[in-house]
Amino acid sequence: KLASREFRKQNSVVTINDVQVGGQQLVVMAGPCAVESEAQLTEAAGVVKDAGAVILRGGAFKPRTSPFSFQGLKQAGLELLDKTRQNFGLPVITEVVDAQDAEMMADYVDIFQVGSRNMQNYSLLTCLGKIRRPVVLKRGFACTITEWLTAADYLLSEGNEQVILCERGIRTFEDSTRFSLDISSIPVIKKYSHLPLVVDPSHAAGHYSLVPALAKAAIAAGADGLLIEMHPDPRKALVDGIQSLSPSDFRQLMADLKPIAAAV
Ligand code: PEP
Ligand code: MN
Repeated sequence: KLASREFRKQNSVVTINDVQVGGQQLVVMAGPCAVESEAQLTEAAGVVKDAGAVILRGGAFKPRTSPFSFQGLKQAGLELLDKTRQNFGLPVITEVVDAQDAEMMADYVDIFQVGSRNMQNYSLLTCLGKIRRPVVLKRGFACTITEWLTAADYLLSEGNEQVILCERGIRTFEDSTRFSLDISSIPVIKKYSHLPLVVDPSHAAGHYSLVPALAKAAIAAGADGLLIEMHPDPRKALVDGIQSLSPSDFRQLMADLKPIAAAV
């Protein structure tokens, strides 16, 4: 329906300040899984900006698989994101897990991330459809592309056209990676939908050593951008340290992506 190519022939472009997702630009969103402290976020933002990435990521509300894992700094995390985006002039993306927080969060962040576990949380989607703010809609890890696009329709049908899809890996029988990155979904989405698409190689891979190859493959396959976990000191990360790139690995990846992005 609304997310389909039949509905709209030309590619949709989502604009955040001077960043255009879905145009010519390679858009890299990067930063730590979770906001942990002012020092950590400031250091991450410096690396992100310096390496040529254009959007800072950082979770304030963390929907963890276990209730005993770190759940995020919440309000204090939002305040750090707001301060850091102003200091660095970088738009920020953060996950919203509860529809009741959405209005409040809109004052602190530029892009809402809907997590894989919430892709079919239709009350959350309906609420975000009413707030005219860009949304990155992650693919549910057990959802088909059709289910993903119809979830996007919940946002679009409320009048929010600023929808960016994010492939982040799906659950398969393969257990050598955390999830299986569905590279095929990139050309399939490009064929059947007008929406911009970014890829998160970090949550798919589950290990930092696999992230660069998946990131490069995603751009070669036609993704508009990437969402990458990068931590100033991955070994000390409170969340997802094992899949986070170090600043030096991140800088190297950014350099390696340039010729690939230029070729597609
Ligand atoms: C995240 O981006 O930190 C995250 C929790 O991702 P996902 O919803 O894809 O698991
Ligand atoms: Mn994470």
